[in-house]
Amino acid sequence: MIPVIALVGRPNVGKSTLFNRLTRTRDALVADFPGLTRDRKYGKAESAGHEFIVIDTGGIDGTEDGVETHMAGQSLLAIEEADVVLFMVDARAGLMPADQGIAQHLRMREKATFLVANKTDGLDPDSAVGDFYALGLGEVYPIAASHGRGVTSLIEQVLGPA
Ligand code: GDP
Ligand code: MG
Repeated sequence: MIPVIALVGRPNVGKSTLFNRLTRTRDALVADFPGLTRDRKYGKAESAGHEFIVIDTGGIDGTEDGVETHMAGQSLLAIEEADVVLFMVDARAGLMPADQGIAQHLRMREKATFLVANKTDGLDPDSAVGDFYALGLGEVYPIAASHGRGVTSLIEQVLGPA
């Protein structure tokens, strides 16, 4: 079975940018403002010698109260459908309250989760990811989706060597 990887996280962290890089299509819209991609999008992806399906989600905006409402319905469905979740955070914005809510939900699930700190371009990779260890999801993987830095090695960590 072809593995399925879901991209979840707050709006504007770079999920669609990573989706586009992995699928090399213009299927998912990339915009400078949150919330443009409203539905789940599926793409056939190839990276690090693997073929897989990647699911882009519109994001969890965290404006509601409570853990469950932090998780927008389509993000919950994407998590259900996926073999692996890439939980993306924004290394430039730093740790945000909505990240904590999402992490709390993911920690309760029996789903392989990788914590990915995006937008590390121009930042020192080590100091850029330090705060995110507080989310209690283990290793933090630094990437720059718009430049491609760290993406291939991330997929190698997720799916193993080709
Ligand atoms: P989404 O809402 O999570 O899908 O986020 P988008 O993919 O739409 O990206 C939101 C904004 O972040 C856009 O302006 C992107 O160009 C920008 N962005 C995405 N990845 C990176 C990155 O690696 N570095 C920087 N500096 N900006 C990025
Ligand atoms: Mg998007």
